[in-house]
Amino acid sequence: MTFASLGLIDPLLRALDALGYTEPTAVQQQAIPAVLSGRDLMAAAQTGTGKTAGFALPLLQRLAMDGAKVASNSVRALVLVPTRELAEQVHANIRDYAVNLPVGTYAVYGGVSINPQMMRLRGGVDLLVATPGRLLDLHRQNAVKFNQVEALVLDEADRMLDLGFAEELRALYASLPERRQTLLFSATFSDEIRLLAGQMLDQPLSVQTSPRNVAAPTVKQAVVPVDKKRKADLFCHLLKSRRWKQVLVFAKTRNGVDQLVERLQGQGYAADGIHGDRPQATRQRALDQFKAGEVSILVATDVAARGLDIEDLPQVVNLDLPIVAEDYVHRIGRTGRAGNSGEALSLVCADEVELLAAIERLTRLTLKRIEEPGFEPEHRVPDTNASGEVIKKPKKPKKAKVGGAKAGLGRWMENNDPPEPAPKAVRKVPAFNTGPRKRKP
Ligand code: AMP
Repeated sequence: MTFASLGLIDPLLRALDALGYTEPTAVQQQAIPAVLSGRDLMAAAQTGTGKTAGFALPLLQRLAMDGAKVASNSVRALVLVPTRELAEQVHANIRDYAVNLPVGTYAVYGGVSINPQMMRLRGGVDLLVATPGRLLDLHRQNAVKFNQVEALVLDEADRMLDLGFAEELRALYASLPERRQTLLFSATFSDEIRLLAGQMLDQPLSVQTSPRNVAAPTVKQAVVPVDKKRKADLFCHLLKSRRWKQVLVFAKTRNGVDQLVERLQGQGYAADGIHGDRPQATRQRALDQFKAGEVSILVATDVAARGLDIEDLPQVVNLDLPIVAEDYVHRIGRTGRAGNSGEALSLVCADEVELLAAIERLTRLTLKRIEEPGFEPEHRVPDTNASGEVIKKPKKPKKAKVGGAKAGLGRWMENNDPPEPAPKAVRKVPAFNTGPRKRKP
C-alpha cells in the first residue's frame, strides 16, 4: 500500500518522500482515510506506531484544502498532548509533514514564559499543539479563542488523565464548538478513557493496531536481581566495569534522579538528570548535551523522558522498573534501532516483582536473570514468567547454564541469545470496545 492510495495530496507525498517514509504503518492505513472523510476516531495506538502521522497528515490536508482563513488569536485544529517534550516532538513531526503546505503550526506548553506564546498566537495558528494546562491559561487570558476549532486531537489520552489533567480537559471541552472532528489516541482503555470518549466522540471509528509491545529483536534485555538499597552501588559498579560510554538511566522518582546524578558527578562522570521539577530550558539543555555526547549519563523519570527523540542508544538501564508496564517498552525502544545492537538492563529488587510480572505479561517474554557477583540480593526476587505469574515458592536450584543466573553479566553480554519467549500468547490487555458501557451493579 502507498500513501498516495490513501488519498493524500502531492505536497504531503513529497514531504513523506523527503522523510523516507515509503509505506504507511497499520495505524496510518486505517486512520488516514477515516480522518480525511471527517469521521471521529478512537485509536488504540502507542508511541512508535506512527500515530502522529496517522492524525497529522489528514488533518493538515483538510486544513490546507477547506475552511476559512484563521482569524487572529484563533486556531483551527488543536492537538493536546500530556508533556512538554511530547509537544515539541509532535510539533517537530508536524512541521516536517507541513513543509510544502500553507498551514501555520505552533506548539505551546508550560514551564517557559507565556509572553512569546501570546505574541505568536496573535496572528492566529492553523494547527496548535498544546499541553492542557498552558492552553487553558492562554484561553483564560484571551490569547487563544476556540470558535474556529474544527478538529481536536487527544494524544496519549491515558497519560493526560494519569498526569491529572482531567479537570483541564473538562474545562477545555466545555469551551470548544460542538461541531468538530475529534480524534482520541490512547495506549490503554480504562473506564475513565471510555467515559471521556463517550462524551467527546461522535460515532467514532475504532482503530486498533497490534501493539508494538515488543522491543527490536536486536535489543538484549536482562534483569539483574539486587537489593533495593544496593541499586545505586550496582549501577556505579556496572558503569565502571562495563565501560559504558553513553547510558540513559530511568529512575522512579525525582529524588532518585537527583541522588544518582549527584553521586555520579561526585565521581567525575559527565552526568545530568531530567525530571518534572526542572525548568524546561534546563531539561532541553541536558538532553541536547546528551545527544551531542557532552553528557554521557542521562538520568530521567518517565514523564520527563516521554517523547525524547534519541536516535540510537547502545545502553538503557532501568534503575527502577516503571509503574506502567507499557513504559518499559517506551524506555527500551530507544535502543537497538535501525538494526544496531542495544542492551537494556533492569535492576530489580524483591518489591518490584509484580511490576516485573506485568512487563513480562505485556511483552510475552520471560526476561533473562543474571546475578552480578558481589551484588546477589538478600531478599530474593520471586520467579516470574511470560504469563505474568509470580511464583512464590523457590524452585530447586538448577545447574548453572551459559547465560543463566550464575554466568554473570559479563558472560551474558557476550551471549546473543534472545530472551525466552512465552510458551503461549497470553495477553490481558482489555478488549477494545466501543459499544455501550456495562454498568457496574
Ligand atoms: P510515532 O508513533 O508517531 O511517535 O512515530 C514513531 C516514529 O516512526 C517517528 O520517528 C516517525 O518519524 C516514524 N514514522 C512514522 N510513520 C512512518 C512511516 N510510514 N515510515 C517510516 N517511519 C515512520
